[in-house]
Amino acid sequence: MKAAVIHGPGSIKYDTVDDPILKEKDDIILKVTSTAICGSDLHIYSGGFPQPRPMVLGHEFMGIVEETGSAVTHLKRGDRVVVPFPIACGNCFFCDHDSPGNCEHSNPEHYGPEGGIATEKGGALFGYTDLYGGYDGGQAQYVRVPYANYGPRIVPEDLSDEQVLFLTDIFPTGYTGVDWGEVKGGETVAIFGAGPVGIMAAKSAWLRGAAQVIIVDTLQYRLDKARVTTASTTILWNDGHKEVVEQIRALTKGRGADVCIDAVGFEPDRNLADRIKATVNFEKGSIKVLEACMSAVRRNGIVSVLGVYPVNYDNFPLGQFFDKGIVLKGGQAPAHKHIDKLLDYVVQGKVKLDDIITHRLPLSEISHGYEIFKKKEDNCVKVVLDPWK
Ligand code: NAD
Ligand code: ZN
Ligand code: ZN
Repeated sequence: MKAAVIHGPGSIKYDTVDDPILKEKDDIILKVTSTAICGSDLHIYSGGFPQPRPMVLGHEFMGIVEETGSAVTHLKRGDRVVVPFPIACGNCFFCDHDSPGNCEHSNPEHYGPEGGIATEKGGALFGYTDLYGGYDGGQAQYVRVPYANYGPRIVPEDLSDEQVLFLTDIFPTGYTGVDWGEVKGGETVAIFGAGPVGIMAAKSAWLRGAAQVIIVDTLQYRLDKARVTTASTTILWNDGHKEVVEQIRALTKGRGADVCIDAVGFEPDRNLADRIKATVNFEKGSIKVLEACMSAVRRNGIVSVLGVYPVNYDNFPLGQFFDKGIVLKGGQAPAHKHIDKLLDYVVQGKVKLDDIITHRLPLSEISHGYEIFKKKEDNCVKVVLDPWK
């Protein structure tokens, strides 16, 4: 089959690889009909998460069930499904606690970033390096989906792929930022990053009844897209974060936002050399968005960290965290927890997801897709790929 394979930082190729096969009784093989590139893929592409051997990337995909293992009870050949991005068993301590991103069975080898304790288990994703389980991903014509009785959700035939594809990751992820923020109605939510995740967080904030949604980005075209797709207030981040924080305070009676969401994370291309040497003491700028969130949130407010940070950092604003009594939450979004409710919102027409797509490419143009998405060229916001073209 054809697949997008990472060969090292900056090198993703349209390769011919072996077709996946069933390995466990509760696996399925999915014929992928649509797949997308995520900001999280950029952390691998730029070397933030080094991947030592070639691997098929991609954790945002959907398609048609091609083959089922003997223990698959929930699906049959021909079913059309979306697949949440964490690989989770549905049957361990963390899955029982609605935390599929920490599943103990899908990745028993996982040890966390440098400084993590070797016995910490858990956390697997499709196509997300050996650290996250070593599973091939769905930027391919076919993909093996483990634990198929737990992850995949059947989607209604009258909805197009593009209408439901983002239920795999970015919509549940954006929603998680707001859910961690305990938004019940009437709050101000400030979102850093007008990428796909930030925009989905804004859509989710409105769904949960926020009174005001503010989106911050360094790129005007991203803010324009955010405004059109979410009708939120936008702020352009020029240099330091002081100005941005002041503007957010001015919009919140001087108090700060009730909830700040970091939808940026580790910045691609920065500190790559440090990361490869596996040092942890890297330049302060790499968490400048998280620092801005901590400054812009009100006392006793909540900061949700959706942006991915692949390494530890030893200059964390602990004094501010304590002084303001900030609640900080982060991690892989528990997509399984929210996906059914979010699919209902799509079915009911309460939210539209496909308005962020700017590029539709054949899988053969994968390398171009990664480049424009990484470099933010050609007004790129979200790339969707057809594996059969
Ligand atoms: P993206 O690269 O398209 O978006 C990031 C945005 O942040 C861009 O628009 C960029 O211009 C903006 N940005 C950069 N520096 C900024 C700054 N100083 N202030 C404000 N904005 C700034 O990526 P995405 O697909 O939207 O993903 C965003 C983050 O979410 C990534 O780190 C990704 O890995 C992460 N993510 C996490 C989860 C999860 O489960 N926690 C799931 C999906 C994605
Ligand atoms: Zn993703
Ligand atoms: Zn589990």
